[in-house]
Amino acid sequence: MVKLIIASRNSPLALKQVEEVFGLLPKIKYRLLAAPSYGDKHKNISLLASPPPNIFTKELDEIVLRGQADAAVHSAKDLPYPLPDGLTVAALLPAGDQRDALVSKNNWSLKKLPRGAAVGASSPLRRRELLARRPDLRIVSLRGNIGERLQKVDCGQMTAVVVAVCALQRLGLTGRIAEILPFPTHPLQGHLAVTTRADRRDLLKIFRPLDTHRAWGRAALVGAGPGDPLLLTRQADIYLRRTDVIFYDDLARTIVEDYAARKIYAGKRKGRQAHTQETINEKLYQAVRAGLNVARLKGGDPFIFGRGGEELEYLQRRLVTVDVVPGITAASAAAALAKIPLTKRGQSASVALLSGHPASKIKVPAADTLVYYMAGTTLAEVAAKLLRSGQPPRLPAICVLNASLPEQRIIRTTLQELKHLKIKTPLILIVGRTAGNDAEI
Ligand code: SAH
Repeated sequence: MVKLIIASRNSPLALKQVEEVFGLLPKIKYRLLAAPSYGDKHKNISLLASPPPNIFTKELDEIVLRGQADAAVHSAKDLPYPLPDGLTVAALLPAGDQRDALVSKNNWSLKKLPRGAAVGASSPLRRRELLARRPDLRIVSLRGNIGERLQKVDCGQMTAVVVAVCALQRLGLTGRIAEILPFPTHPLQGHLAVTTRADRRDLLKIFRPLDTHRAWGRAALVGAGPGDPLLLTRQADIYLRRTDVIFYDDLARTIVEDYAARKIYAGKRKGRQAHTQETINEKLYQAVRAGLNVARLKGGDPFIFGRGGEELEYLQRRLVTVDVVPGITAASAAAALAKIPLTKRGQSASVALLSGHPASKIKVPAADTLVYYMAGTTLAEVAAKLLRSGQPPRLPAICVLNASLPEQRIIRTTLQELKHLKIKTPLILIVGRTAGNDAEI
């Protein structure tokens, strides 16, 4: 029987975690290679700010990538996203207790802590939750292993500390809990993860029985283009054909009709059921966890004013595999359909994609061609800003409404005329010399 070499941090909790994993694999023998992580060596780094995402995993991952160990056992919430190249999660174990606990002097509850008490916390989330309930508290950086953290209370340096319930359970210290806190916690808190090199099929096989996440579906953020199905990429078409479920936006509604997958409206237009971004993120995640392949179909390109970045991050932080399929963004489509180049030799050597909403945040960067998304109801404000920043009143401007759809309309105008327009239909505003018929302005 092979004997695996398992890398782990060298705290008592980390060693318990390794025992827990192999308790589930009684036939597999292993030898421990315990090594401190960067975070273990530098206990002055506060986790309340934005520490490097791999502060507790880098050294162990490197040991695995170099082949000095076969696998590493981590608290899943410590994993960076995306994982370093060449590494994969061989197993994400089912969640233990995902809650946070307060350990305090005199077993005081959060409510009972004296005014201005020093409370140790080790994440911005915990700090935020503490202050939301007790703005008077002094939140201080909490570092070290669990024993060292509890010691801060015992020696009087801190009045209380927040730690994960599962950590206390693993160490047999649940007796120290003064209160279970109703805080939202990191989505992977309470999960253990085993990482291996992605090319070690032998190991993937060994850990597969423990893995909950291989049964999950995959997600794809798919760009739908501006609306005309002919402007959908072939790759997007393949994804949409193969997927189990499509979550679509208003701007992608013309595209979904052609596909057999289950369709779920995830738009935010008023009048229809409005979803918050958080709800959409969570629905995507739950569908993936239920084993479905999910296509998130977004108008244009998913990464241009589509909040695709947030969805990607939300899913990747939960270890969901996400593909991204680019789409023709509305700016390119509008320019092509109005036959005005966004760049042109001698007239425009730079182009900026901008948001026209909200009015207070309209920007006028130093680019030759300016393209505003979401500017229908703020055309007057955009025009005023541009004029104030010194652009000539006769500078050509073009509005393309419903680009590529049967209702498409093109309005050719100038900056000074633009002031008078207010349009509710989705439109792209292009401002610059290339938007006019002649270059004389
Ligand atoms: N991700 C999309 C943009 C989403 S923001 C993309 O890459 O195109 C929504 C804005 O996109 C709308 O307010 C509008 O400014 C623009 N838009 C999207 N589709 C459009 C279309 N067919 N015609 C004109 N504007 C469009």
